[in-house]
Amino acid sequence: MNKRDYYEVLGVSKTASKEEIKKAYRTLSKKFHPDINKDDNASEKFQEVKEAYEVLSDDQKRAQYDQFGHQDPNQGFGGFGGGDGFGFEDIFSTFFGGGTRRRDPNAPRKGDDLQYSMNIDFMDAVFGKETTIEIPKDETCGTCDGSGAKPGTKKKTCPHCEGSGQLNVTQDTPFGRMVNRRACHYCSGTGQIIEEKCQTCHGEGKVRKIRKIKVSVPAGVDDGQQLRVSGQGAPGVNGGPAGDLYVVFRVRPHKDFERDGDDIYLELPITFAQAALGDEVEVPTVSGKVKLKIPAGTQSGAKFRLKGKGIKNVHGYGTGDQHVIIRVKTPTKLSEKQKQLLREFAEVSGDIPEEQSSSLFDKIKRTIKGD
Ligand SMILES: [Zn+2]
Ligand SMILES: [Zn+2]
Repeated sequence: MNKRDYYEVLGVSKTASKEEIKKAYRTLSKKFHPDINKDDNASEKFQEVKEAYEVLSDDQKRAQYDQFGHQDPNQGFGGFGGGDGFGFEDIFSTFFGGGTRRRDPNAPRKGDDLQYSMNIDFMDAVFGKETTIEIPKDETCGTCDGSGAKPGTKKKTCPHCEGSGQLNVTQDTPFGRMVNRRACHYCSGTGQIIEEKCQTCHGEGKVRKIRKIKVSVPAGVDDGQQLRVSGQGAPGVNGGPAGDLYVVFRVRPHKDFERDGDDIYLELPITFAQAALGDEVEVPTVSGKVKLKIPAGTQSGAKFRLKGKGIKNVHGYGTGDQHVIIRVKTPTKLSEKQKQLLREFAEVSGDIPEEQSSSLFDKIKRTIKGD
C-alpha cells in the first residue's frame, strides 16, 4: 500500500505547530467520521487521519517520522497482535536461519491481546452502563512466579542446544547438503530446561483463572464497535507487560426502534381517520414520549423528523435524530355501523382516489379511456 505523507493527510506544513496539527485533526476527523460521513471510503480516510495524528501529535514519533518517514521499523501501527508482532527481525531470521540478529527467546515480551464479545441491550448501548465481565484468562503462576520451575529449583541450560535455543539440522537434498537451523525441541527454543516442574502449573508458568473485569459500556456505542481495556490481556512472557483486552459490543435489536448510526427509525401506525383528519399523537423515543402533530391528509409512508431525539454520539459529536415513518392501518374488523358509515363515505367520495395533481400520465389515461 502506498502510504500518503502524514503532513499531506492532515493538510499542514512540515513546520506546523502542535496547535495547528490538533486543529487540522479535529476538523478532518469530524469530516470523515464514519458515523457522520456515509461515503464508502470515509472510514478509510478517518483511519488515515487518525494514524497521521497519532504520530504527528507525539514529539518523539514525529521526530522519528521526520527522519525515517514511513520506513521506520519501530513504528508499528498493527493494532491486533500485541507488541510482539511479526517485526523486521522475525523476517530476517526466517530468511537467514536466525543469523546474528536472532531475537533472544528469553527476552521480555508483551502478552497477547484478547478479544471478548459482549452482548448488550439496545438501551444500554444508547445510554451506557457499568458492568462486569468474567473471562477465562491465563495468569502468571503465583507458585513459581511464571518460571515454571518448582520453587527452590532452578532451570538449567539445555544440553542439546547449549542454551542457544536452536539446533542445526543437516539434510541431504538433490542440491547437496543443507544445514538448517531450527528451534530446539528439547527446550522449545528457550535454551533452558526445567528439571523439576512447578506442581501448580506443570511447568507452563501460567494458570487459567476466571477473572472479573469492570467494563464501562460507553454511551452511544454501536454494534461491532470495540473498547480497549489496557493491560487486561494475556500475561507477558519473561516479565514483559500484559497484553490488552478488546471488548467488542454486540447490540441486540430493539422491538420498535431501528438504529442507523446515531439516528433512530420508528414505524408509527395510525388510523385512517387520524391520517385523514389530522391528530396529535404520542411517539416513543429513547428518552421518553414526545408529542407529534399529524397534519390532515397524511399519507402512509410519510416521514417526520424529531430533531435531536436520536442517540448521543459515542465520540461526542452531537446527537442524532429520530425519524418517524407513518403507516396508515386499514381497519380489518368493522362493526355494522362502521361499515355503513364507510359505504356512505365511499358514495359521497366516488370510487376514484382524489388526484393531487393532474399529471401528463393521467391525461393520457383519460384520452385512452375516452372520458
Ligand atoms: Zn508454576
Ligand atoms: Zn535446547
